Amino acid sequence: MLTTIIYRSHICEDVPVNTLEEMVATANSKNRHANVTGILLFNGTHFFQLLEGPAEDVTAIYQHICRDPRHHNVVELLSDHGPNRRFGNVGMELFDLRKYDRDEVLQKVLDKGTTKYQMTYNDRALQFFRTFVDATEKANYFELPPADSWDFIPEDTPLSLQPEVVAKGADCSFAFQPIVDPFMQQVVSWEALIRTPTGDSPKAYFDTLSQAEIYWADLNSKQVALSMACTLGLQTQVLSLNLLPMTLVNVPGAVDTLLTAIAANGFVPEQINIEFTESEAISRFDEFSHSVRQLKSAGISVTIDHFGAGFAGLQLLAQFQPDRIKINRDLIANVHKSGPRQAIIQAIIKCCASLEIRFCAVGVELAEEWMWLESAGISEFQGHLFASPRLGAIPAIAWPEKKYGL
Ligand code: C2E
Ligand code: MN
Repeated sequence: MLTTIIYRSHICEDVPVNTLEEMVATANSKNRHANVTGILLFNGTHFFQLLEGPAEDVTAIYQHICRDPRHHNVVELLSDHGPNRRFGNVGMELFDLRKYDRDEVLQKVLDKGTTKYQMTYNDRALQFFRTFVDATEKANYFELPPADSWDFIPEDTPLSLQPEVVAKGADCSFAFQPIVDPFMQQVVSWEALIRTPTGDSPKAYFDTLSQAEIYWADLNSKQVALSMACTLGLQTQVLSLNLLPMTLVNVPGAVDTLLTAIAANGFVPEQINIEFTESEAISRFDEFSHSVRQLKSAGISVTIDHFGAGFAGLQLLAQFQPDRIKINRDLIANVHKSGPRQAIIQAIIKCCASLEIRFCAVGVELAEEWMWLESAGISEFQGHLFASPRLGAIPAIAWPEKKYGL
């Protein structure tokens, strides 16, 4: 199958620009050998390359290119399939944009086309060319320092040095994980994540219950979470609790039960954030909205969790605007390498900013992911990079520290 990949990258400072021709000549013979053709643009700082050929060959060459030390911040913009090559003549053609004016280069690119029909800029791939030549997206080319310019060393605190707490007699337990603001070095909130008493996953806990029991168990478990949080000394902190949206609808008096447990453990509602975890569609939206209104009138703030996954999409956000949304790991993973993820996250940020909704990135594992997200305007993060959930205890937090000399 004919595959097309387009990427953009940043030339490394120590690469002399006059070695480009030589670099392209080597790439040319390598690509021709692998049956990969394409075109390469260079604007003095950034490369923009289109690669075409059989799927496996293009992928292999692209992986090789990603590892090339002469450039960095490689971002895949397009991966698509088509009937035939756009630029089938040479292994790789180089255009140094500094030598042409805009219209000239756009025409020359079209002239290099080898398709049966005259190519036009209606094609998605060629629109990426035009955008690169026009530099209209340049503000979004974040230049990230290397991942190893930061250290992440967990630091114990009085909270993390406490012994682990066991929820005696309960059928569940909780692990705690912080949502952090790394630049302020502040914990925004502590999320309580349900576990079996032996520390197994939420799925393992809920799988033992019948459909009818799930909602009661979900609600009742919050008493365990609050009591553990109380024993762990989180009374001055913000606490995030997960609930299925239908728990508040299906369990009569759920909000009152929650408020009683909050007060009984020495918390006030303003410290509590309820994260709606969508594993099912909200089937009775009016009743759900009623419960949210009850939570909000009591002073509890609400979050749409797993935003961008499953049922937690744009339709839900159109129907109801929470205090915060949490962008799911599915969108966060490898965001620094993916043009589509970057575009989606930037759109989410823009949308949240217009609606004055706070946003947080969940499942951040890599320094590069964090650096990209921070550059895009996200300041709240949750993920293994900073702290993993710890059963019955408060984890130490690894705040990013810039390495000396960098
Ligand atoms: P969630 O609310 O999005 O919680 C974050 C999940 O991401 C947690 O999984 C956490 O362990 C995981 N996580 C945190 N950092 C990273 C990371 O850097 N990389 C990766 N790959 N994962 C990370 P966990 O604890 O297994 O929870 C899964 C889901 O179970 C939660 O997702 C939440 O939707 C649900 N859940 C947890 N507690 C409760 C609860 O009390 N009630 C209900 N209804 N659902 C709950
Ligand atoms: Mn959550």
